[in-house]
Amino acid sequence: MQNTIEIFGSKVFDDRVMKATLSAKVYQSLKETIDKGKELDISVANAVAEAMKEWAIQNGATHFTHWFQPLTGITAEKHDSFISPAPDGRVIMEFSGKELIKGEPDASSFPSGGIRATFEARGYTMWDPTSFAFIKDRSLCIPTAFCSYGGEALDKKTPLLRSMDALNKQALRILRLFGNKDVKRVTTSVGPEQEYFLVDKAMFDKRKDLVFTGRTLFGAKPPKGQEMEDHYFGVIKPKVAEYMADLNEELWKLGILAKTEHNEVAPAQHELAPIYTTTNVATDHNQLTMEIMQKVALKHGLVCLLHEKPFAGVNGSGKHNNWSIATDTGINLLSPGETPSENAQFLLFLCAVIKAVDDYQDLLRISVATAGNDHRLGANEAPPAVVSVFLGDELTEILESIEKDVPYKGTKKTTIKLGVDVLPKFARDTTDRNRTSPFAFTGNKFEFRMLGSSNSISCANIMLNSAVAESLKIYADRLENEKDFEAALHNMIKKTIKDHKRILFNGNGYDDAWIKEAEKRGLVNYKTTPDCMPHLLDKKNVEMLTSHNVFTETELKSRCEIMLDNYCKTVIIESNTMVDMAQKQILPAIESYIKELSETISLKLKIKSNARYGFEGTIVEKLSDLCEKIYESKEGLQAELLEVKKAKNVEEEGYFIRDKIIPQMDKLRSFADKAEELTAEKYWPYPTYGDLLFGVK
Ligand code: ADP
Ligand code: MG
Repeated sequence: MQNTIEIFGSKVFDDRVMKATLSAKVYQSLKETIDKGKELDISVANAVAEAMKEWAIQNGATHFTHWFQPLTGITAEKHDSFISPAPDGRVIMEFSGKELIKGEPDASSFPSGGIRATFEARGYTMWDPTSFAFIKDRSLCIPTAFCSYGGEALDKKTPLLRSMDALNKQALRILRLFGNKDVKRVTTSVGPEQEYFLVDKAMFDKRKDLVFTGRTLFGAKPPKGQEMEDHYFGVIKPKVAEYMADLNEELWKLGILAKTEHNEVAPAQHELAPIYTTTNVATDHNQLTMEIMQKVALKHGLVCLLHEKPFAGVNGSGKHNNWSIATDTGINLLSPGETPSENAQFLLFLCAVIKAVDDYQDLLRISVATAGNDHRLGANEAPPAVVSVFLGDELTEILESIEKDVPYKGTKKTTIKLGVDVLPKFARDTTDRNRTSPFAFTGNKFEFRMLGSSNSISCANIMLNSAVAESLKIYADRLENEKDFEAALHNMIKKTIKDHKRILFNGNGYDDAWIKEAEKRGLVNYKTTPDCMPHLLDKKNVEMLTSHNVFTETELKSRCEIMLDNYCKTVIIESNTMVDMAQKQILPAIESYIKELSETISLKLKIKSNARYGFEGTIVEKLSDLCEKIYESKEGLQAELLEVKKAKNVEEEGYFIRDKIIPQMDKLRSFADKAEELTAEKYWPYPTYGDLLFGVK
């Protein structure tokens, strides 16, 4: 392996390469676009394109592509080669500023949720200069936003950038009130911890459910699962270690700050965490990370499963979105400060987040809603579907003492005056250990833990940024007109704590008692995607998101439609796969075993006519009964699959799937899993849970 420092970023057109390949004037101009959003001059774009092309060719690229994130949740690319015909019949390599800035992929094949009829197929991709271009598979990839002809966002990047702008704008207003004049930009940063499973490729290929849906739809419990708790942070197996080393190298080449890796709770489950970076770049990098994880796995004879719940009975995979707000001068606004003023500022930002999470619990829940994640949330292994905030006992007590004007134990029995007192020190360590909270303060950042492993982190951060921008806007609107700033600030923080303390919960989020308590507190509990998704269009949500120009109402309607449609399609594909497996693999397998047993029985009877009706008979009876049940519930599922086609709209379809199809799938599975337990191993048509979970050495 080459030296890590050398390979890091070697495939990225980053600042170092820009400095080396662009004239000082062009570089300066591009920097202003990147840092301050200044509009890009076409002559600058031409010069940048030329430099990018030369660099890309030198590094083995032959093509370029606008790389974007349509609402499919994965990334899209369309490659064009650099070649252009020359008069002498040969070719020259060309790439213009125009091609860099704007592309026109056919938008009709990407989900648009009714925004754009197929006859208006045009869509635009537009360069996002704040995320570096990179080389992947001999193509220069240019991160872009993707919009319809009418300018509506058809992707996950555009609203994310808009939400970052919204938060920047409101946060700057607050900082000015604190007398801070030198901060020019406030950005959010994210470090997403990514969980995944690794399984053997040959075994994967034998399972239609994994191939078609990314998760197992059948499978009896193996003799051993995660009960020994021997996998978390355990020694990494050689084959997995080789994979991780290779993966790191590929990610480093792309400038991705892959940092931490370890085994997770379930057997065959692992995690990778990068060092945090700007939200927009972190989002691009996480998409790339997921792609590279899957690619590198194949090279090692493995398959990387990013599904939220590939196996029943062991933990599923999530993604922890570590999020904070920082200034361009390097101050983390969610980090308690040293002076009274810094502390007051910290508390205000902290309160803004608390208020945001309470006011827009539903949006946070919606932002992680997928068919896959529905299996995880609330399943005693991941946070419940109820959103709450964990602050830790000490910080909670500090807030309480501010709310009630009572002394805090750390302040020598005086009440805390904002802007006058320094906050009492609270230990960071105690804040980090609650792993059951969906939204936990971890000392200088919040960790949003409800995301599914395959989710783009974009949606969660769009909602988070926008909701916090809204809190900050309300604060700034009030404070800007106050004469006594400190008193007003104090009162406002008090009021926020009083109004929103229902969202604070430091206990065990996996406990059923909490769900009851949360209901009493009036917190929302949307268990499934069809339950929560329609609330995206609730008046308060539309008003907030449109007022900060993050979405238009049309965009929201389209997204709601697409997410529900995606949910329905996912479950229907799973159902079809189950029907196929039950009919063509499971029933025939059981029948073969029944046949063998029956033959044994008749042989025994031949030898001795009054032979006892032995254990073979019992198994034949049980399996025959299960075969009937498997067949019946398979038929039942097929009937429901016909019925669902009658749904009048996607919302109705979603409810039907939730209420009729999913329970029928569960029924079919339960019979098949029982039959698996009774059937001789050599007859079972595909690798079992035991094979899959313990098959990688
Ligand atoms: P743990 O969650 O195990 O305590 P860490 O707190 O070290 O681990 O970090 C987890 C993730 O949080 C890492 O990806 C890290 O880069 C990220 N992180 C740390 N500080 C910040 C921050 N200020 N903003 C966003 N993410 C952060
Ligand atoms: Mg963590």
